[in-house]
Amino acid sequence: MNQKLDNLQTKPAKELSSLRVGDGEVRFLSVTSIEDMGILHTLYKDGERIHITGRGTNSVYGTYSGVVVSIDIMGHEWLENSRLKIYTGEDWQTAVDLSLNKGLHGIERLTMIPGTVGAAPIQNIGAFGQLLSNRLHSVEVYDYIQNKTITLSAQECGFGAHRASNFKNMATWDSYVVTSITIDLLPESTFEPPSGEGLMQYAQEYSLPFASVKDAEQLIRSFRATLYPDYRQIPNCGSYFTNYEVDKELAQKLPSSIWKVKHRDARDGSAVLFQCKDLLHSVGIDAGHEFSGGLKMHPKFNNFLINTGGATALDLLACHKEVNDLLAEKYGIALIPEPEFVDDATARPVM
Ligand SMILES: Cc1cc2nc3c(=O)[nH]c(=O)nc-3n(C[C@H](O)[C@H](O)[C@H](O)COP(=O)(O)OP(=O)(O)OC[C@H]3O[C@@H](n4cnc5c(N)ncnc54)[C@H](O)[C@@H]3O)c2cc1C
Repeated sequence: MNQKLDNLQTKPAKELSSLRVGDGEVRFLSVTSIEDMGILHTLYKDGERIHITGRGTNSVYGTYSGVVVSIDIMGHEWLENSRLKIYTGEDWQTAVDLSLNKGLHGIERLTMIPGTVGAAPIQNIGAFGQLLSNRLHSVEVYDYIQNKTITLSAQECGFGAHRASNFKNMATWDSYVVTSITIDLLPESTFEPPSGEGLMQYAQEYSLPFASVKDAEQLIRSFRATLYPDYRQIPNCGSYFTNYEVDKELAQKLPSSIWKVKHRDARDGSAVLFQCKDLLHSVGIDAGHEFSGGLKMHPKFNNFLINTGGATALDLLACHKEVNDLLAEKYGIALIPEPEFVDDATARPVM
């Protein structure tokens, strides 16, 4: 066997999740160069399950017997004046900082989103009206089944409704591992200041400017600090459940009581969107709500699940059940958690 595979480390699973939920230990490997990516093909041929991790800020673990691989390929290149290629192991914030330092814009509202560059296209990160997909040029992936590198255009990635992408939805993309992404940034002359009720109220309250790219980034940075507790101090995965978006035609079949919950049109009027914080509130789950094992909604924010004790995967599943039993009873719907649940039961079968 390859020497690197003889030296797999083990790590407590919960250390790989920013919510610090994970049972037992997992086998762990770090890959630091494109040339070493072939190790994944070897693992695959050995019949191992493989899970790729970034910083774990959108992941929780149950019991996982596969190998967890961190792709720690670092660095960046400017391909043209405003086209940035950045490698997978870098913090996403590095991309934002590089863009700001060149006076470019297009990703400044995505400042302070935790995690790696490699994870960013998986759920098409977004905040304050900006989405990565709006500026993404292409994604380079290594396919560990075919043992080859492929370049995908942004269009091929299938970014659609909230958080959707082909990385999540297509089983044949399961063996695609992001090695770098390329982003097309924009000159400051085309900059449009951010808007949004909460952000504007905050800017007004503290007299903070937002008419330049750098000021807008600083405003969002400081606003986010009031919204999101640091996951290194209070374990969390950011917003926990995804919003509920449903085609208008299907929405008509929902019980009339759901229309009392705040909602708005989505997807050019073809769908309706309910924010999960409003749905949760309507079934009595509010900020501070306690689940088992020390899991609770943040004292100030609904849908912001924090781990105040030693919650296990079973506690987390009990939390999902409590929420979705209430929603099923009242409206016949369920909310889907944003973080990926990495577990032998949910992993795709070994091919
Ligand atoms: C406090 C807080 C605030 C947040 N705010 C936001 C926000 O405003 N907007 C937003 O969109 N998200 C937000 N998030 C969620 C999170 O930051 C993003 O989902 C981020 O992209 C996850 O990065 P990660 O490296 O931690 O990914 P991980 O949790 O490690 O992985 C997430 C997924 O990506 C896959 N993956 C990771 N790397 C690769 C790779 N190289 N190739 C293929 N697959 C890979 C993993 O297998 C997994 O499926 C927030 C999270 C926290 C804790």
